[in-house]
Amino acid sequence: MTETSLLPSLSEEQVRRDDRAHVFHSWSAQAQIDPLPIAAALGSHFWDYAGTKYLDFSSQLVNVNIGYQHPRLVAAIQEYAGRLCTVAPPFANDMRSEAARLLADLAPGTLNKVFFTNGGADANEHAVRMARLHTGRSKVLAAYRSYHGATAGAITMTGDPRRWGAEPGLPGVVHFWGPYPYRSAFHSSDVEEEGARALQHLRDTIMVEGPGTIAAVVLETVVGTNGILVPPPGYLEGVRQICDEHGILLVADEVMSGFGRCGEWFAVDHWAITPDLITFAKGVNSGYVPIGGVLISDTVAATFDDRAYPGGLTYSGHPLACASAVASMTIMREEGIVEHARDLGTDVIGPALAKLAENHPSVGDVRGLGVFWALELVRDRDTREPLVPYNASGSDAAPMGEVAAECKRRGLWPFVHFNRVHVVPPCTTTADEVLEGIEVLDEALGVADRYY
Ligand code: PLP
Repeated sequence: MTETSLLPSLSEEQVRRDDRAHVFHSWSAQAQIDPLPIAAALGSHFWDYAGTKYLDFSSQLVNVNIGYQHPRLVAAIQEYAGRLCTVAPPFANDMRSEAARLLADLAPGTLNKVFFTNGGADANEHAVRMARLHTGRSKVLAAYRSYHGATAGAITMTGDPRRWGAEPGLPGVVHFWGPYPYRSAFHSSDVEEEGARALQHLRDTIMVEGPGTIAAVVLETVVGTNGILVPPPGYLEGVRQICDEHGILLVADEVMSGFGRCGEWFAVDHWAITPDLITFAKGVNSGYVPIGGVLISDTVAATFDDRAYPGGLTYSGHPLACASAVASMTIMREEGIVEHARDLGTDVIGPALAKLAENHPSVGDVRGLGVFWALELVRDRDTREPLVPYNASGSDAAPMGEVAAECKRRGLWPFVHFNRVHVVPPCTTTADEVLEGIEVLDEALGVADRYY
């Protein structure tokens, strides 16, 4: 410890012991987990206390888009911390207004105002509250196979089993099926048909629920943790049109898909649509300081010109969070990180994963864009039976746990969920690093093939 430092220097053993005794972890049976203490990180790598180096193909929780310890980002946070560490929402602040201006510049259409939150879930809570107040309607349509966060409303909107433990949840949320060509809910034979049938299903759902009762359709532009589901051509344009026909707002959750992850600033930039509200978090500053927010269209924002918005957060627009977002967006623009992510997907990750599929019968499907990819592992390519169970606690339970363990043994930290390996490294990862990681995957998938 240096003379001025207030922070103790803890051994790995102390970290593990106090973690086990006092830290209550997310989504886990507390007695069954043993999280790896991270000692240091740089770029696309992190190190454990034993000095083992891991290439991070997970970007932690798909949030470290700019990579670890980007020196310019660290310096910007240090500089602003030396100036002004806390300013509450009733005051204005230079970094808050600058972050909002940059976000409005990057966002499509007239999304010109930003309500800052602490992360993605509360951004979705506020987007829904705004939509309900703007439309005077109460219902919200959200997709199955989605994740929107762990707060009360966000987990109710979530369309996967993570919702079950929080049920019955908030009233007024109705789920619908989105497109998923590889496992179609509509028995479609190709991508176009899947898009068309998914749109018809949404239309039908709206009709039976009552168009005049629905405030918003909430969806992930590209579905993230539920399998990197890129919407078929025309699908999002169709959703936009259906919403317009019925005066329903479209909320795009870009918490995971934004800020370079899909090779654009916002994933919606791939399609010709502008949502009424976009929620963001993660990649806006790569989680160096917690922040999220809602980008609000002029029309929705005008609802609150002469009427108070009923909501606020003590740390909304926190100066250190906003300073880090300003620096992060500036660095990403100056260093061409979004363009790099786009090219990595097209030139390196896509072709390399397609080759993996040729080599491994257990790879049933490969899909993605930018640095947002998934391999779907199956026991049989004809039946598409998923290669599960996967023990979500991260143990070596066969078969997906074994695949994950093989990767880790070889110095690759994978993102494994259900029967999928997501390939989601930082957007700054070099082509050589990506290829090195995919080579490790190639070796690890031998384990999966044994179950085929
Ligand atoms: N929305 C999406 C699409 C996400 O992937 C996540 C987190 O993974 C969230 C919302 C929730 O964000 P947070 O964990 O910051 O509340």
